[in-house]
Amino acid sequence: MTKLKTQSLHKRESQLANAKRQLEILSNGIFQNGELPTFKDKIAESSQFPLKARKLEILQINVGYMCNQVCEHCHVDAGPDRQEIMTKETMQQCLEVIKKTEAHTLDLTGGAPEMNPNFRWFVEEAAKAGIKDFIVRSNLTIIKANKKYADLPEFFKKHNVHVVSSMPHWTRGKTDKQRGDGVFDKSIEALKDLNAIGYGMPDSDLRLDLVYNPSGAFLPGDQASMEKDFKKALLEDFGIRFHNLFAITNLPISRFLDYLIASENYEDYMYNLVEAYNPAAVANVMCTNTLSVSWDGYLYDCDFNQMLELPVNSNIKHISDYNEALLEGRNIVISQHCYGCTAGAGSSCQGTVA
Ligand code: SF4
Ligand code: SF4
Repeated sequence: MTKLKTQSLHKRESQLANAKRQLEILSNGIFQNGELPTFKDKIAESSQFPLKARKLEILQINVGYMCNQVCEHCHVDAGPDRQEIMTKETMQQCLEVIKKTEAHTLDLTGGAPEMNPNFRWFVEEAAKAGIKDFIVRSNLTIIKANKKYADLPEFFKKHNVHVVSSMPHWTRGKTDKQRGDGVFDKSIEALKDLNAIGYGMPDSDLRLDLVYNPSGAFLPGDQASMEKDFKKALLEDFGIRFHNLFAITNLPISRFLDYLIASENYEDYMYNLVEAYNPAAVANVMCTNTLSVSWDGYLYDCDFNQMLELPVNSNIKHISDYNEALLEGRNIVISQHCYGCTAGAGSSCQGTVA
């Protein structure tokens, strides 16, 4: 089994396991004393406040915070000790929405979504709705974690699932540093399994994309050139192919915020995010076309707001009361973590946005 590098903030009983404490840090200090502008003031400079939700295009469902890994920068604070798991009843409520929404993308995430005991049932039922792009965010190592997960590539293929997986680097050292000892080797094995049945092949409809996020307190480089480097290295070293690389900025919340504070990089990182602020990225931040559903069915503007316990600004709070028309046009709930989505070319679960 993969040796875990660390424990969740919850398990460690860290004060940063508390969302309110994280929001205090993000609101106080350099933002309270005026050294840096708040995100609200910044987007107001270009008349983009309040940020509004447009028509729903992406429904992202977090089916639980349990994970077989404990990655250093996880914004979910996921790990084997997390008990928050979506019930079948809440999944049923999600399915009602999946059947009627006109969103083109369904995005299942976690934790390791595959660890939810009803994951396969949910995927089978959701696939029947025929949503154009059905994403499962798989951490890859889960495929190799236990025999009962070994057939996941075939299962994904059967339901035409688009697999999106984190891979912080093409070298063992950098990957294992961020995601835990042994993660790189297991990820490579899992990618080979996916390639072997057609995932990631140049003309294949079986989509396999990788996600890169920086391993330290710096912003990602250019997505297109990184994709080239990743493709070259993974093909030459391991014969592995994939379609696209999404470069994602680490947002200053949860375990990455803990890392920034512990390494005394918090203020410098926030300065970098604010300096790299790109007003052109604001119009397309993912909360403008996405809705995030938590393991217990509550609605959030994005997965980050979910982890900060900032619910949607709407009378519709829960998936059981879902009403697309009423949710459209709502004001997005923002704080200083949002600078992570507007730095440079912008960042979303689908990579750059500007
Ligand atoms: S980043 Fe993904 S794989 Fe790593 S602990 Fe978090 S949910 Fe699990
Ligand atoms: S963190 Fe969430 S709410 Fe803030 S800009 Fe990014 S997607 Fe929108």
